[in-house]
Amino acid sequence: MNIQMVDVKSQYLKIKEEIDHGIQEVLDTTAFINGPKVKEFQLALESYLGIKHVIPCANGTDALQIAMMAAGLKPGDEVIVPAFTYVATAEVIALLGLIPVMIDVDADTFNINIQAIKLAITPKTKAIVPVHLYGQSADMESIMNIAREHKLWVIEDNAQAIGSDFIFSDGRKAKSGTIGHIGCTSFYPSKNLGAYGDGGAIFANDDEMATLLYKIANHGQSVRYYHDVVGCNSRLDSIQAAILSVKLKHLDEYCTERIKVADYYDHTFSNVNQLETPFRAPYSTHVFHQYTLKVKNGMRDKLKQYLDDQKIPSMIYYPVPLYKQEAFKSSSNGLEFLSVTEQLCKEVISLPIHTEMDEVQLKYISDKVKRFFE
Ligand SMILES: *Cc1c(COP(=O)(O)O)cnc(C)c1O
Repeated sequence: MNIQMVDVKSQYLKIKEEIDHGIQEVLDTTAFINGPKVKEFQLALESYLGIKHVIPCANGTDALQIAMMAAGLKPGDEVIVPAFTYVATAEVIALLGLIPVMIDVDADTFNINIQAIKLAITPKTKAIVPVHLYGQSADMESIMNIAREHKLWVIEDNAQAIGSDFIFSDGRKAKSGTIGHIGCTSFYPSKNLGAYGDGGAIFANDDEMATLLYKIANHGQSVRYYHDVVGCNSRLDSIQAAILSVKLKHLDEYCTERIKVADYYDHTFSNVNQLETPFRAPYSTHVFHQYTLKVKNGMRDKLKQYLDDQKIPSMIYYPVPLYKQEAFKSSSNGLEFLSVTEQLCKEVISLPIHTEMDEVQLKYISDKVKRFFE
């Protein structure tokens, strides 16, 4: 059986006509950069997210960098990030000469730990960057309360959770990525809303902030050839925008497909003692960018090897805490040992999950995993 972590090809074939038509329209107009397709996608995403401004850019890493530049963070400022995340989040902090203060995550949600944020705040702290890992929002209500009290920026890394809803304690809902001062996302092909190349976007409700974000992403100019601030060159190209406009219409249905896969896995693994299925926080819907299990009793690497032997793909997101990465030895805050992060790096394994999985594949994978523990 040919099983993949993600199946972008089968998904494409189902919407081929719409996608090909969108691409052809860009080719016909040759408006490759800043064409009408980019504006169209921007407006559609604003409306989907319920946010005032979406600023398309070249990729998710740029989105984070531009957000931090727009927040006016200066070298030496401290930025709080989870130590258990994809490298991009901390990378741009270090790149701008800011200090990534890496803190521990929750053992159940895998997201930034609220108590640890409080303990990490110093007079130099300027921002918190929660990452909505694997498709579920961090506890944004608590994070915004802390940020308000300490006058900190909140920049959401929503690269893995686009489409998920955060539910406030009063029952109000908001899309993940729209709650902090600035939200960032990635349209990397394997993301829940994936382009056919690189892409990213930045979200903001504040008009002035949106203007600044747009300016920074476009060489610091608001009027062509007049540069107000030092910016960068970060654009979403029109072909990617055309593709994303088509795929955005399917995003909710794609999320539902992923949740169905997760439900199936949850159900099959519920009686496997050595496996802990993903925790679903009451304050967020989970759109399962990844389906990530915790494997107990030091069996994770053996399970991984077994799945490799069976030709079932699996991934370890992430094997090494950020503070142990060679790249961050000098820029991070001389970090020691974060117990939950260390434990997760040893216990997590992600199974195939995507919009095109059928019952036969699901049963095959689940049966093999179960058999390993029998
Ligand atoms: C994918 C990802 C990014 C970076 O996005 P790119 O588009 O690849 O630059 C940043 N943060 C997280 C958590 C991601 O998963």
